[in-house]
Amino acid sequence: MKIFLWRLLRGCLPTRINLQRKHVPCTTLCVSCNSELENEWHVFFTCAAAKDIWTSSGMWDKIKNIVEQGEGTTDTVFQLLNHLDTKEATELLALLWCIWRRRNDKLWNDVSSPIGVSIFLARQRLEEWLAARTTNLAPSPRVAEPNYWVKPQPGFMKCNTDAAIFKDTNSYSFAFCLRDNHGRFKAATTGWYHGLSPRHEAEVIACIEAMSWLTNSSYENVLIELDCKTVVDDLHGSNQLLSEYGLLIQKGRSILASHKNLSVRFIRRQANHVAHSLARAARSYASPHTFDFIPPCITSLIMKEMN
Ligand SMILES: [Zn+2]
Repeated sequence: MKIFLWRLLRGCLPTRINLQRKHVPCTTLCVSCNSELENEWHVFFTCAAAKDIWTSSGMWDKIKNIVEQGEGTTDTVFQLLNHLDTKEATELLALLWCIWRRRNDKLWNDVSSPIGVSIFLARQRLEEWLAARTTNLAPSPRVAEPNYWVKPQPGFMKCNTDAAIFKDTNSYSFAFCLRDNHGRFKAATTGWYHGLSPRHEAEVIACIEAMSWLTNSSYENVLIELDCKTVVDDLHGSNQLLSEYGLLIQKGRSILASHKNLSVRFIRRQANHVAHSLARAARSYASPHTFDFIPPCITSLIMKEMN
């Protein structure tokens, strides 16, 4: 984020025009629309891909006048930052970053996530980055993770997942619980298997169970949260892991790649009480078991987290 902003304000982002100036052999056409020269002004303000972001985020009306009279990207961004209030300026930075991220996703991975998801993730990433800066600690993603559950933004659902291991009965369980942006309970599922799995294997199984269930449901834009950092990092990574765990990760990655309205992120264990309690209780139900009403073991937690 810091490097992006620094490069943007210095006019040295690796756009195709900038790369050509440095004698890097590549086409000069825009990655997103493939029809105009790709300089910074085009990427951030005139490309249809950028316009989509500005309009769907509701920001276009606030920046239109300055952009239409703008002379150069750096100058325009500075003018906008001076003109907007703090909240709007933060939004501006998140969206500029979002546009650049989407362009790179298209270039390197040939993927285009739904606009709503990209904007949501960009806002969240910027907030985390700002929070990490203000706590004055070394910027690490963990610093910004809250200790409590946070409701998703309007238009999004959250699905918390967790696993539990029962050495005494030689079994392990999974659970996931889906809630809307008011924190209201929507559905939950638990299940258990015989045998013992290492914790990260059980965690990735819980996550895959949730993803598979969600892809068969009518819910859209779901943020899946789990409290195992290794699994989240591996799902977002690309190295091949030659193990049973690696195969599960591979499966998770392929579901995520084909379902752009699902995303996975890490949360602290203290913020994942609902899924944790449900996974502990899973052994007392048949496997699998789906709940259409709040199971008693998590009722008070759900109520507490709604407020
Ligand atoms: Zn373009």
